[in-house]
Amino acid sequence: MPSTFRRDWITRPIFRLAAHALPRLSDTEREAIEAGDVWWDADLFTGNPDWNKLLTFAPARLSAEERQFLDGPAEELCRMVNEWKIGWQLHDLPPEVWDFLKAKKFFAMIIPKAYGGLGFSAYAHSEVIRKLSSCSITTAVTAMVPNSLGPGELLIKFGTEAQRNYWLPRLARGEEIPCFGLTSPEAGSDAASMIDTGVVCRGTYEGREVLGIRLNWHKRYITLGPIATVLGLAFKLRDPDHLIGNRDDIGITLALVPTHLPGISIGRRHLPALLVFQNGPNWGHDVFIPMDNVIGGVEQAGKGWKMLMSALAAGRGISLPSLSAAGAAFCANVTGAYARIREQFHVPIAKFEAIQERLGRIAATAYLLDAARRMTCAALDEGHHPAVVTAIMKEQATERLRVAVADAMDVHGGKAIIEGPLNYLGSLYRGVPIAITVEGANIVTRALIQFGQGAIRSHPYLLKEMQALEEADRARGLDAFDRAFWGHVGHSLANMLRAWGRAWTGGLFAPAPGAGAATKYYRQLSRHAAAFALAVDLSLLTLGGALKRKEMISARFGDILSELYLSSAALKRWNDEGRQADDFALLAWCMEASFATIETRFDELLANFPNRPVAWVLRFFIQPLGPRRRGPSDRITDKCAELITTPSAARDRLTVDLFHPAETEGENGIALLERAFAMTAAVQPIRDRMHEARVRDIDQALKQRTTTADEAQRLKAAAEAVAAAIAVNDFAPEELTGRGAAKQGDEPSQATSPAASPSISEPTPPDQVPYPPAAAE
Ligand SMILES: Cc1cc2nc3c(=O)[nH]c(=O)nc-3n(C[C@H](O)[C@H](O)[C@H](O)COP(=O)(O)OP(=O)(O)OC[C@H]3O[C@@H](n4cnc5c(N)ncnc54)[C@H](O)[C@@H]3O)c2cc1C
Repeated sequence: MPSTFRRDWITRPIFRLAAHALPRLSDTEREAIEAGDVWWDADLFTGNPDWNKLLTFAPARLSAEERQFLDGPAEELCRMVNEWKIGWQLHDLPPEVWDFLKAKKFFAMIIPKAYGGLGFSAYAHSEVIRKLSSCSITTAVTAMVPNSLGPGELLIKFGTEAQRNYWLPRLARGEEIPCFGLTSPEAGSDAASMIDTGVVCRGTYEGREVLGIRLNWHKRYITLGPIATVLGLAFKLRDPDHLIGNRDDIGITLALVPTHLPGISIGRRHLPALLVFQNGPNWGHDVFIPMDNVIGGVEQAGKGWKMLMSALAAGRGISLPSLSAAGAAFCANVTGAYARIREQFHVPIAKFEAIQERLGRIAATAYLLDAARRMTCAALDEGHHPAVVTAIMKEQATERLRVAVADAMDVHGGKAIIEGPLNYLGSLYRGVPIAITVEGANIVTRALIQFGQGAIRSHPYLLKEMQALEEADRARGLDAFDRAFWGHVGHSLANMLRAWGRAWTGGLFAPAPGAGAATKYYRQLSRHAAAFALAVDLSLLTLGGALKRKEMISARFGDILSELYLSSAALKRWNDEGRQADDFALLAWCMEASFATIETRFDELLANFPNRPVAWVLRFFIQPLGPRRRGPSDRITDKCAELITTPSAARDRLTVDLFHPAETEGENGIALLERAFAMTAAVQPIRDRMHEARVRDIDQALKQRTTTADEAQRLKAAAEAVAAAIAVNDFAPEELTGRGAAKQGDEPSQATSPAASPSISEPTPPDQVPYPPAAAE
């Protein structure tokens, strides 16, 4: 029991004051905050993260069955799809791919085995999406949706037994194709403001008169909508005749709507960024469904927002982060290879420092995103649903993918811009804004969710204080507030000392586990975590509820929290993978970039903090000398670039389990590139010898006996492979206007019939390809 003197004479007036100062939550905010739980984010908010807890947390692993699926059906599916053909010829997945997706239960990865699904772990689910993303974005998005936010997950979590028994086996067998309709023209990011309605009434359903709901809606952007057989629908339910209770407005409700019912218009398609996964609007006019179709039954009517938020808490951490991690690793794979084989000014472009700058960033991004993906999946598999962490993952992964793809495009130059079957980057590039917009558009996620919700949810005391303030029994509320408030004060004072001590000593003595060369990074993170915790408390104290409107301040806090999370993941990956010396440059790049961002954001926060005296005090405690870190050095960047431009175990670790098409798989740009890369690397010692002998031409080298006949042959074969890999497509004019479409065969092929099929620009004959000086200049 708290001391009554402290409670009555000190806490009580603060209790009254705090009731006005602390942010008030709307119902939808409260439901979002109460959904999910906290995990490593809560440790970061303490200002003193327990590194041993992080390092001993078991890394995610695949079961034998999951591994078989990844190497079996997932690999087979990748071999069946051709993104070019899907996008530009069929405008859909081919029927045999749809059948395969259903038959092999790609749509049922999250459905428990008891209902006929695959019952995969979050990590296995993520691995499958990652693999599919590395071969076809259209296929990956198609497989992603039924496994993320949608009827499946909602039924598993909230469905009645009858609903689960009926729907889940049908979804698992692919007899039903689901979609989920939340977004409407008026309500995008502010989805809770939807004007789609349901009215409780009696009506006739399948010949019986039953209690049900009359629905009217207009949704748009709905993935799988045009082909869905069952629509998970979010709407606002009203009960004017009080048929299910005594309230008029029941609130946001979720129901399953079979799409064949009268009054439904479905089937028209959007074309999202020219990608052709099924997506479109749908409408319902006076559609009647029985009350049994409300997910969770009548007791769950009005609880739709909470259900959505809790389903999103996990889903947001898997789908788009997996696609993004795949995208970044894919960029590392192809861009490293391309920079190695593409030569300009008689030198592989990988040797130019300005290219290395981009290559280094791509490589480190691939390392970081996969580290964070694995760590987050491990947490999900341990049963956590950390809503703040998954919001960080969604926003950060997709934003970093945007940078990685842009870097990859720039390094490829025209090769990535010219569309055709030889272009392996175009659809990923077009898909990035989609990943950024869906499941919570990134600007909102960064400015409102990561820190806005994190400060309340992951903070050790704030939520307890807020709950105490809202307690109906004032005496109980005061007791609870007294405990939380004084705990908070102690926490703030401890962090003030920590932050000051760690900042003024440059983090030299901050806590760190014994982690070899990486120990210094833990120290810096401990230092920044303490500074973050102190800055959070002073912001809450001085800005209170106004912090919600200070989106630029909140977004910077969100960035710092994100950096702390992602860097923790990078450190954990390095540790879990056995502290690979060759990967250390990647870790160093991630950590240095992270420290630079953290310090810059702190500096910006202090410069823009509305309460100036508090900003000065805070600067004294956390950043007395201003931002000092400048990001990764050129030497580290160079090492990271080198790592993806040379075949090695480290390169393989970065690109593990991506899809690698076989050379035989038609005109496949990636297969051609990987072949050229391997051959170029293999002939490097011969080229080094030629370089030393100052011979450029193969025939001359042969004449001078710098190379053997066999070596000359291998050099020519490598040059041919490079010429094929750098080729791009061109088209007969009538193909592009559609007039020649009927003449086209199914298989886009090389320039065998230039008038009728896409062709590749005439490659430079191999013996005219100048044999440049050796790569190692
Ligand atoms: C290809 C695709 C597939 C989709 N699939 C589905 C689906 O299957 N089911 C479904 O229900 N929905 C789906 N969506 C909808 C998606 O979730 C919404 O697009 C998203 O919620 C954003 O809504 P909006 O596009 O209307 O943007 P708006 O809400 O109009 O936002 C525009 C911009 O304003 C920003 N913004 C909004 N409010 C704030 C604020 N308070 N502070 C700062 N910035 C703010 C946003 O971040 C965004 O940058 C899909 C969308 C796309 C494009």
